[in-house]
Amino acid sequence: MGEFDLIARWFTRPARPGGGVALGVGDDCALLQPAAGMQLAVSSDMLVEGRHFFADVYPAHLGHKALAVNLSDLAACGAEPLAFTLALALPRIDEVWLEGFARGLLELAEDSGCQLVGGDTTQGPLNICITVFGQAPAGQALLRSGARAGDDLWVSGRPGQARLALDALRGQIAAGEQLLTLLRQRLERPMPRLALGQRLRGIASSAIDVSDGLLGDLAHILRASGVGACVQADIATDLLADCARLALGKAHFDRLLLMRCALAGGDDYELLFTAPATQRAAVQQAGADSSTHVTRIGRIEAEAGLRLVDASGQAVAGRFASFDHFG
Ligand code: ADP
Ligand code: MG
Repeated sequence: MGEFDLIARWFTRPARPGGGVALGVGDDCALLQPAAGMQLAVSSDMLVEGRHFFADVYPAHLGHKALAVNLSDLAACGAEPLAFTLALALPRIDEVWLEGFARGLLELAEDSGCQLVGGDTTQGPLNICITVFGQAPAGQALLRSGARAGDDLWVSGRPGQARLALDALRGQIAAGEQLLTLLRQRLERPMPRLALGQRLRGIASSAIDVSDGLLGDLAHILRASGVGACVQADIATDLLADCARLALGKAHFDRLLLMRCALAGGDDYELLFTAPATQRAAVQQAGADSSTHVTRIGRIEAEAGLRLVDASGQAVAGRFASFDHFG
């Protein structure tokens, strides 16, 4: 089987009319047509074996995740997905692997209305690079730079679960079968928060997706917006309380572990965003409309830097830098 048979068999689907795609796989270029008044949102993410995933990961989960991490960037911008390209380096043609990978990838593509319109395929160490294209009404995309002093800080879902999963898979914590299944799902099949992101347009003042850890990604918003923040560490770690309850080796699930996972664990693909306090009801409504749990975890402040406080307002750990080593 050659390169072209491989593309035809696994990565060519009849183009769906509309949906922003005028021409899909097969020509020198794909042609995209965003709707009138829309801006094109573009983002790329690369997944490298050994660095972003284990060699033995289930291929369907890898296909799903490779697209999910890209769609998460569209979600963080409040953009609606249109299409994506796939640049793939494969060590060999492994039909079982390709079948699983393409299935996981194209299922999520179908579910999120994002068509595969092109790419490149070559032999080499396993490497997956996806570029997504989405659209947002001109001037309405959510940016990192819009946070203002006095805004609330919100997060979706339960950040930290992916990191708990990693610790459990490495045998560093005793999770037990039930919890491990749930956590594995979070790590291997993250669901990009596309519906929430789009509903937050006109409500959120800034947004980012949590790929490298909540505090680390918050730092990007703070820098881009020229502000500081106060984060309620207990509220953030409470989000993992259900996991801690399910855990077997409860002794391991101490406050420090939950804090490390919730605040510094990566790979969650939740949305971290800010909104004026006047928008609290609107944010809750956006969460309800998109069936997404949203939690207010802090506040944007004029003073630069990041302050972590406990329920009584006492500083937990002076500055963000103290948390770097958890990364
Ligand atoms: P070119 O030589 O013009 O770069 P290729 O021979 O690499 O074209 O690819 C042929 C067609 O197949 C192009 O339309 C390209 O976008 C598409 N394609 C190549 N690899 C993939 C892939 N992994 N997934 C989807 N489409 C692909
Ligand atoms: Mg090519």
